[in-house]
Amino acid sequence: MMSQEIEVTQEAVDKLYERLNKEAEAAGYHLNPDVEFTKELVRSLLINERRYGYWSCPCRLSTGVKEEDLDIICPCDYRDADLLEYDACYCALYVSDKVIKGEKEPKPIPERRPTREQRNQFKEKQKGKVPTGTSKPVWRCRVCGYLCARDEPPEVCPICKAKKDRFERFI
Ligand code: SF4
Repeated sequence: MMSQEIEVTQEAVDKLYERLNKEAEAAGYHLNPDVEFTKELVRSLLINERRYGYWSCPCRLSTGVKEEDLDIICPCDYRDADLLEYDACYCALYVSDKVIKGEKEPKPIPERRPTREQRNQFKEKQKGKVPTGTSKPVWRCRVCGYLCARDEPPEVCPICKAKKDRFERFI
């Protein structure tokens, strides 16, 4: 987690916590029920926002370059896969239904994020993709997999609320 030398008010933390909680529940996700722990992660998100200009994951090292860190802007590209496999995201900000119901405990999660080299290789491969003959481009939300065919990706994913810059050209 990032050091806390940037000051964030408790009011700002509470406000963002409420917002994330509401959005998560509306989209079928759950914040960690340990409110104190969760609010500390929310505080780190706010600190990272001040530091870098975006919600870089509190549990990962940010480069400070948005383009490089897009996959770890919260909610990160790896959240859903970790929820499915480990019942929590890497930081345990989000937990599964089973954790909420007390049927499972979140456990340590191995890092799923590919290395920088692997990510760069993937980007190179994507560049070479030839679009097929659809009338409009298809965009995919990198966070939840939502697909839509339109000229531009939506400002906010209607499913997981990820911002426009988290969409990638799918077709
Ligand atoms: S969803 Fe991803 S970015 Fe957000 S706190 Fe969890 S692991 Fe970090």
